[in-house]
Amino acid sequence: MEIGGLQKTTLIDYPGEIACIVFLVGCNFRCPFCYSRELVLNDPNLFKIKEEDFFLFLEKRKGQLDACVVCGGEPTIHKEIFDFCKRIKELGYKVKLDTNGSNPDVVEKLLKANLIDYIAMDVKSPFSKYKRAIGVSAPVSRIKKSIDIIKTLCPDYEFRTTIVPEIHEVKDIKQIVKQIAPAKRFFIQNFRNDKELLSPHFNQVVPFDEFEIQKVISEIKHNFEICYLR
Ligand code: SF4
Repeated sequence: MEIGGLQKTTLIDYPGEIACIVFLVGCNFRCPFCYSRELVLNDPNLFKIKEEDFFLFLEKRKGQLDACVVCGGEPTIHKEIFDFCKRIKELGYKVKLDTNGSNPDVVEKLLKANLIDYIAMDVKSPFSKYKRAIGVSAPVSRIKKSIDIIKTLCPDYEFRTTIVPEIHEVKDIKQIVKQIAPAKRFFIQNFRNDKELLSPHFNQVVPFDEFEIQKVISEIKHNFEICYLR
């Protein structure tokens, strides 16, 4: 497995758990507003971590960390993802998977093998605008299937959307709600442009006024157990 980063501790990425985050290299989407440019493009300056060193780290942190967040890029594009998650679970950690939902069969296989405890899935936009949001042709039927599988099989989960001017209008949040509701958690993230993005053009784009987003959230949050601007 090609590992492009390790955050040794996080208190905010896995609800209620102390976790680390492992970043896997590569993604099948090209979202122009992507904040993980180096991972997606496998930038030659990316500092790679050997898989064995990562597992040594997990061995040493047993009892100090509860969980490991497996993040990308897009983790499900890797054929080794099953064995990778299994090995983390065998060390006693909970596993959270961050995914763009493009590989429902992989997600289903992981869930049916009890290798995932929590999933955060990005729902990038209304389905009608998906191609624009992800920069490649849109696998909408696979995204829909992932939403259904996660709601049915996953012990705990969230859906999340980054709302981006020039791709979305704030009212698009309501359309996205129709695609996922009812559901446990839905988090909306305001677009950020404070580091180099996948498309440099989006570094010039000004984020939405948070007040506008909050107004829409107040209208849609009854569809979820938890829903807020993150
Ligand atoms: S934001 Fe898009 S391009 Fe970036 S890692 Fe996520 S799915 Fe891939």
